[in-house]
Amino acid sequence: MNFINESEIWFLTGSQHLYGEKTLKQVKINSKSIVDHFNGINNIPLKVVFKSVVTSSDEILSVLESANTSKKCVGVITWMHTFSPAKMWIAGLTILKKPLLHLHTQFNRDIPWDDMDMDFMNLNQSAHGDREFGFICSRLGIKRKVVVGYWKEDTVQSRIAVWMRSALAFNESKNLKICRFGDNMRDVAVTEGDKVEAQIKFGWQVKYHGVGDLVESVKNISESEIDTLYKEYESNYNITSAEIENIRYQAKIELGLKKFLDKYNFKAFTTNFEDLHGLEQLPGLACQRLMEQGYGFGAEGDWKQSALVYLMKVMGTGLKGGCSFMEDYTYHLDPVQPAILSAHMLEICPSIAKETPNIEVHPLGIGGKDAPARMVFNVSEGKGINATIVDMGGRMRMIVNPVNVIEPKPLPKLPVARALWVPEPDLETSATAWILAGGAHHTSFSMAINMEYLEDFAEMMGIEFVVIDKKTNIFDFKKELRFNDVYYLLNK
Ligand code: MN
Repeated sequence: MNFINESEIWFLTGSQHLYGEKTLKQVKINSKSIVDHFNGINNIPLKVVFKSVVTSSDEILSVLESANTSKKCVGVITWMHTFSPAKMWIAGLTILKKPLLHLHTQFNRDIPWDDMDMDFMNLNQSAHGDREFGFICSRLGIKRKVVVGYWKEDTVQSRIAVWMRSALAFNESKNLKICRFGDNMRDVAVTEGDKVEAQIKFGWQVKYHGVGDLVESVKNISESEIDTLYKEYESNYNITSAEIENIRYQAKIELGLKKFLDKYNFKAFTTNFEDLHGLEQLPGLACQRLMEQGYGFGAEGDWKQSALVYLMKVMGTGLKGGCSFMEDYTYHLDPVQPAILSAHMLEICPSIAKETPNIEVHPLGIGGKDAPARMVFNVSEGKGINATIVDMGGRMRMIVNPVNVIEPKPLPKLPVARALWVPEPDLETSATAWILAGGAHHTSFSMAINMEYLEDFAEMMGIEFVVIDKKTNIFDFKKELRFNDVYYLLNK
């Protein structure tokens, strides 16, 4: 995945002709030195391209039209170094389709107390120039992130970096193809949803393929291809079961699955254990391996979570910590430390493993197939974010909850990967709020990103964003859900 190297952010500085050429020249020099600084530090993940100092409506429209059609440009940063009368921005902002970040900064950090004259005042006007720009964005209902502070500060750069990664995910989302092998698990409600709405809102193309298409692709995998992949398993993981043939069969599924997905440019997929005709095992290890390679995955036909896993992986590209499909499985209700044990039947991504995973083979209670190979491991301790998307009928709702992964006691008889975590603010409040919000049992869980990434993403997408965290109390939370119902009714 070369998202990071291939994408760029355009930087536009707003001004006007009133100040004269000398000032505009200085505005350009200053803008360039900010952009050069961003391009020279590790804090900023994407290349920033300084476009121009814009001083007229036509100019702004033209550059933002190019931003829309540029394959490389994944977002636009604007900054009003001086005053830029914002009627000039109406035409451009109205057609802008790429994510927008309004950087409210100032070239100088400190007031030059001894030397400040009116020339200085006329050159350094972001304090009011950016407010004029803010007004027109709000008046037009433009979705954007506002970042305030001195551009050399780490905190400012880190907020920009988060937005850049979310902008990458936004652009991936608009081109995302999700493959569903089989349909939804029979009778399950939350994994269903309006795929037309999803394509309108997120850009997701959710496509059905009969599992026979996958079986055909798996059949064509040669023994020598399996030999090579099996060697990779041996060097990356601990193979602790003697059933080599069952593990080799998962290698065969992995190769067939990957070939099929790549052929049609699918970046995410779902399986369904009720629909495995022609496969000898439920894809377990195969799904874990593909998630580890960056594909999104959802079980039981859950295409929304599959897409979210993929997009959260995109946001976390190159960052420490992994991301996986997940399910709230069972509770530890000891009042001393109530916690949630999260896992799935098989399919947890090893990118969040604490130690080298074991590859094990165990029979599966459901599905009526051969014993599937899977990776078994504990998840690293530390902070993570658990998120889900549900279809509320007419709108998509994202629910997020920060959690803290703690060390479980040994689980010698549990043959799946698992995470034991304490959600914010506590299990009782978290589960109450999650259930009131209609949150799914399936989630996407990341230890690479935090809430801010998903907040930025939800803002770009214009979807409902519901947070359960340290500040949550149920009384206010219920009010927020009711307010949101009205808001989305009015803003359909
Ligand atoms: Mn499930």
